Amino acid sequence: RGGMGEPEIPFSKPDSLTRIYAVTSGKGGVGKSSVTANLAAAMAADGLKVGVVDADIYGFSIPRMLGVELPPTKVDDMIMPPVAKDVKVISIGMFTQDGRPVVWRGPMLHRALQQFLSDVFWGDLDVLLLDLPPGTGDIAISVAQMLPNSEILVVTTPQVAAAEVAQRAGIVAEQTNQRVVGVVENMSWLDQPDGTRVELFGSGGGEQVSAELAKGLGYEVPLLAQVPIEQVLREASDTGTPLVLREEDTPAKQALQSLARSL
Ligand code: ADP
Repeated sequence: RGGMGEPEIPFSKPDSLTRIYAVTSGKGGVGKSSVTANLAAAMAADGLKVGVVDADIYGFSIPRMLGVELPPTKVDDMIMPPVAKDVKVISIGMFTQDGRPVVWRGPMLHRALQQFLSDVFWGDLDVLLLDLPPGTGDIAISVAQMLPNSEILVVTTPQVAAAEVAQRAGIVAEQTNQRVVGVVENMSWLDQPDGTRVELFGSGGGEQVSAELAKGLGYEVPLLAQVPIEQVLREASDTGTPLVLREEDTPAKQALQSLARSL
């Protein structure tokens, strides 16, 4: 930061009031993007000014989940992000040609992220959410470098195998000096119509990640939410209106809403 030719990132200035959460997971498919999209929509619905950077190169799904309909535009040297559900959104997927896969190497990803943070007109945000690619790759390190004040939110499923890799993604914070705000356990259980509960992915993953990170990092890392499996959550994401904005009140919606208010 501040080196020759390094563009300035307003969010990283000491007087920035924007809270920054990087949402991470050990592996893909655990609901990291769903959590990010619902958090963003819930926070915006609560009146906060919210921006999302979708930096999940391989699985960019935020635009679909938030129902983004327009591409970004260019005004002078700034990129104007499209707004969906009152959330400003920029995604790596908006800069690929006809949905072709991204085959960028580390340095290009770093540059793209830098542009997202310095050349996009975000205005004054209360909250910036970053949807990171799963794992402990280049982007997580770039985010830590560019946004040293960002905090990490770890998403896992209850499954032991998922929890172990999620732990690793969280423990990166020790090396990057970022704070881990907490853990979200997603797909915690499925409530069936007959009233029985099935723990499809086992149980305890969230607690495990929370306890292990606390041990590794030396401070409390709370399990902030347990979000059950709900078909309506998936459908809501597929149709571009996150569950937290839908009318029906469900346990997953309540969990995501109170998560948004706890941050
Ligand atoms: P990730 O970002 O970790 O790869 P996604 O958020 O894309 O994961 O979720 C993967 C798939 O699972 C999506 O189709 C999403 O709608 C679905 N999904 C995520 N969480 C839940 C849940 N709690 N209940 C039902 N479906 C879910």
